[in-house]
Amino acid sequence: MSAAPLVDSHCHLDLYPDVPAAIRRIDAAGVLTIAVTNTPSVFEYLTALVGPAKSIHVAIGLHPELAHERDGELPLFHQLLPRTRYVGEVGLDYVTSDRERRDRQRRALTRIVEWCAEAGGKIVTVHSRRAANDVVDVFGAFAGTYILHWYTGSIQSLNRALGHGAYVSVNPAMLRAEHSFSVMKHVPKERVLTETDGPFVTIDKRPAEPSDVQRAVEGLANLWGTELDTAREIVYTNFTRMLGERSSA
Ligand code: MN
Repeated sequence: MSAAPLVDSHCHLDLYPDVPAAIRRIDAAGVLTIAVTNTPSVFEYLTALVGPAKSIHVAIGLHPELAHERDGELPLFHQLLPRTRYVGEVGLDYVTSDRERRDRQRRALTRIVEWCAEAGGKIVTVHSRRAANDVVDVFGAFAGTYILHWYTGSIQSLNRALGHGAYVSVNPAMLRAEHSFSVMKHVPKERVLTETDGPFVTIDKRPAEPSDVQRAVEGLANLWGTELDTAREIVYTNFTRMLGERSSA
């Protein structure tokens, strides 16, 4: 029996130095990938480059750290949203203490979540740095599925998100950090996905690529006390279940 396909639910594919080469490697390895984008204007460009690569799903996003510069692209976001089931990177980032920037992030995210709820069936990958509580508030009982990407918030907010049916995606860097490792112990196995957040995360001093999620699988096998292939199978099953559930509007 061959190992289940790998899953990278959060990768910035458009930011690799040679995007077509990265696409070919992902496709050859058959890694099920959600290619997030940071601004709506990148979505069509990346969709055209990805072309027929079956394992890559291009998501439409507006990164919270760019919201104050790019929230003028929200109408474009709304216009392009029907073209994909996948949304991200979106969210809130409270590293900035600027109240106006935080407000603009919240306004943008609130609109996006409303549009996704109207459309139904969307899969949203979400950034929540120092803002987990507000992120979970904005999503509330969201009618689609959201994935907390690189979650570093409190257990309390995490539990609320899990109560909404959220998933949590882990990357190799997280599983090396003690806090994240202990947070992941609270997440039921059936809600865990893997991600690279490449090319921002580096592995052996090079940008992480989707097939590097194998490192995250190793961390999960260690966390769960399972064989590698078992951990890999669990993540794959979670991903396929996630795509199957709440798929109708
Ligand atoms: Mn990211």
